[in-house]
Amino acid sequence: MNKVERIKQEKNGLDVWDDIQRYAEAGFAAIPEDDFTRLRWWGIYQQRPNDGHFMVRVKIPGGRLTADQADAIASVAEDFGRGLMDITTRQDIQYHWLTIENMPEALRRLNAAGLTTQEACGDVPRNVTGCPLHGVSADEIVDGAPLVDRINRRLLDDRGFSDLPRKFKVCVSGCGAHCARPEINDVAFVAVRDPETGETGYNVLIGGGLSTQPHFAQSINAWVSEDEAVDVAAAVTEIFRDDGYRVSRHRARLKYLMEDWGPETFRERVQARLSFPLRTAAPFEYVDLYEDHLGVRPQKQAGLYSLGVAVLVGRLNVGQMRAAAEVARTYGEGRLSLTLTQNLIVLDVAGEDVARASQALDAAGLPVGASDVRRAAITCTGIEFCNLAVAETKNRMVDVVNHLEARGIAPGAFRMHMNGCPNSCGQHHIADIGFMGGRVKLNGETRECFDISVGGGVGEGRAFVHNVRRKVLAEDVPAVVANLLDAYAEHRGRGENLRTFLRRHSDEEINGFLGSLEVPADAVPVE
Ligand code: SF4
Repeated sequence: MNKVERIKQEKNGLDVWDDIQRYAEAGFAAIPEDDFTRLRWWGIYQQRPNDGHFMVRVKIPGGRLTADQADAIASVAEDFGRGLMDITTRQDIQYHWLTIENMPEALRRLNAAGLTTQEACGDVPRNVTGCPLHGVSADEIVDGAPLVDRINRRLLDDRGFSDLPRKFKVCVSGCGAHCARPEINDVAFVAVRDPETGETGYNVLIGGGLSTQPHFAQSINAWVSEDEAVDVAAAVTEIFRDDGYRVSRHRARLKYLMEDWGPETFRERVQARLSFPLRTAAPFEYVDLYEDHLGVRPQKQAGLYSLGVAVLVGRLNVGQMRAAAEVARTYGEGRLSLTLTQNLIVLDVAGEDVARASQALDAAGLPVGASDVRRAAITCTGIEFCNLAVAETKNRMVDVVNHLEARGIAPGAFRMHMNGCPNSCGQHHIADIGFMGGRVKLNGETRECFDISVGGGVGEGRAFVHNVRRKVLAEDVPAVVANLLDAYAEHRGRGENLRTFLRRHSDEEINGFLGSLEVPADAVPVE
């Protein structure tokens, strides 16, 4: 039995709740080693350098927030988290620098605002993600927000789901562009309209996930209504709990069960746990590969607009979060949304207020009209706070964005994702340009570097990246990316996006585009 399985068997992670108060009084040194693992069930995770500070993750189902909740989140950051908040690729908010002493008050404030950290980390159902414009998108197929909430409650309220083999990720995609990336979730509900009957429902995808061995979720050829989707979500979670692999942590993901069973067997196993027959999946196609819902967009509610702003590498300060809340309150209905691209949207702004609201957001450093490269940038936490990281990510990506913006490089919609290790929290596998951190020894000095890969993407023609250049020194990355995007500007076909351009060229050609910043001959990889 691996260590985490033993810890879970001895005591459920959720049962550490009462201990948090006790540890807050007794101090960090009073926390037994095993309870550091159990604290994850309440979204509390030791942060680098393990000196008494914690990362705390707040679940925001579907990314949907009220202005009052945004203020509550900001108050915790201000008083306990050195003013930092990171938007994650699963629409959570992450704090850093919290201590066990201030944990009870931080969690109390969040709970009082209707927010929770419960099961934000650990071997449990994680935040249920969805389109940030559910319910307002003018071209959505289904308003998926109610399903997000129903699945979230169904999985959160059932203690039977609090000891899964590992993390478990659910997504609801009602948006016509399927911006929520259903293909990289353990189970995803993808809205479709039956072309013959006009009826709407959800196709079911199962077994996606990135990490070091990326898999795309596969269709099990099933179509369900909203009510049925809640039961299917629970049934798949039960299957993962009961049949998922628990011996090796590495293999303890639903994608490996799908790999071994295949979609037909998986469908049969799901069907066996349901009281209704699964119907056949409806035909479905992707329409937009790059939708991020930023900028000013008309909502389906007449006269109202959503204002999506770029949050550089997902990091907000207290002033920015409060400014966004205030704009939502003053010019909208007090509603905001976090995107899966680590950005933020203010909803329900009347047409006559769009200019004033945009100015207020711009003044807070949250540009409505952000550059292509700012919109494209996604990063994981990296070595600043992550114990598994080998490279800095957020500051490195800021360097890339600043360099490209200063050069006036505007390639249109694309994605560049940076990870501080192979685990892919920053999802480099599905980027047009993906960076994976590493280290090399050069002249006796250990230096950060990045492997550069290209050609990833979700949606139509989905693919994972493949490597084209290894061990680029971190400080050379901005220039190398600029070289590639310059080549794209020079050689692309009419209307050709970066994904198509990269796939049209051989690795050798792309390597040529990256330029001559070769790996120093005496650089030795550091394992
Ligand atoms: Fe940490 Fe690696 Fe995940 Fe980045 S990808 S947050 S470095 S585990």
